[in-house]
Amino acid sequence: MSLLEIHNLKKHFPVGEALFSRNKAVVKAVDGVDLSVEEGETLGLVGESGCGKSTLGRAILRLIEPTDGEVFFQGKNLLTMSQRELRDMRRQMQIIFQDPYASLNPRMRVGDIVGEGIEIHKLAKGRAKRDRVMELLHQVGLREEHYDRYPHEFSGGQRQRIGIARALGVSPSFIVCDEPVSSLDVSIQAQIINLLQELQEKMHLTYLFISHDLRVVEHISHRVAIMYLGKVVEIAKSDTIYRDARHPYTRALLSSVPVPDMNRKKQRVLLEGDVPSPVNPPSGCSFHPRCSYRAAICDQTEPPLDFNSESHGVACHVFGPIKRA
Ligand code: SF4
Repeated sequence: MSLLEIHNLKKHFPVGEALFSRNKAVVKAVDGVDLSVEEGETLGLVGESGCGKSTLGRAILRLIEPTDGEVFFQGKNLLTMSQRELRDMRRQMQIIFQDPYASLNPRMRVGDIVGEGIEIHKLAKGRAKRDRVMELLHQVGLREEHYDRYPHEFSGGQRQRIGIARALGVSPSFIVCDEPVSSLDVSIQAQIINLLQELQEKMHLTYLFISHDLRVVEHISHRVAIMYLGKVVEIAKSDTIYRDARHPYTRALLSSVPVPDMNRKKQRVLLEGDVPSPVNPPSGCSFHPRCSYRAAICDQTEPPLDFNSESHGVACHVFGPIKRA
């Protein structure tokens, strides 16, 4: 049994006047996603901004209520749990946010920020709580003297370390890392990714690592899922995605990743047009207006996510997964 299993998860948001009208227009931010994450695994979730990946992360944790579907964590369906059961389960499931500037309360001291979850879940108090916070600060590369300081006294990378310590405070087993390095300098990004990897090994953590940048998820992810307009269009082991991507959208994303080796020049695949509106997504394959490989069937029929025996899934009529005999 996987640690996390998602079946046909949907999150639709009503828009504008439709909020009160009978003919409801909706933004299909997440539109029927099936995924599983194994214990100790990092699943990278990649797509352009607005593709629904952050909404998916929040819907899994029920920080926003899904419209439909099922989310099983350790075999229990989170969507049928009472608020009380969910509160207990939340100890196991944490989130690290993108913006370390906005996600920390500027009026709270670091010790209180990191210790908040420990207090809410009654895991320790007094001296024991302070010792636990000190231990967490140490684990994320901060020092004892940081305990009484405020978030504005830290750099972006240090603030993200505080966010990580806060998430670890309740000893979770699963963490949604929602673009945790997107707002940081490239050199700091590497430090935070290395830290997350070290912590994963030490604490046997499982991550859903969300990013708009395939380069960022390359080293941390065991598998990578590519999202486009609320759906997963390709999923495979990391090395398969980077070596043998099939979906034209994945290939376009990969072609925009810079290669450090001057002898390995890549042909840049330019995407045609903008991302279509999720209120009125294109018929058939929702990528077809931007796809230079589209065939007659592509605007008629939606391609299913088809898997081969190596669990490489591709939703494309033309470039399905290679099935070996
Ligand atoms: Fe392109 Fe057709 Fe494949 Fe969609 S199904 S990605 S339009 S080739």
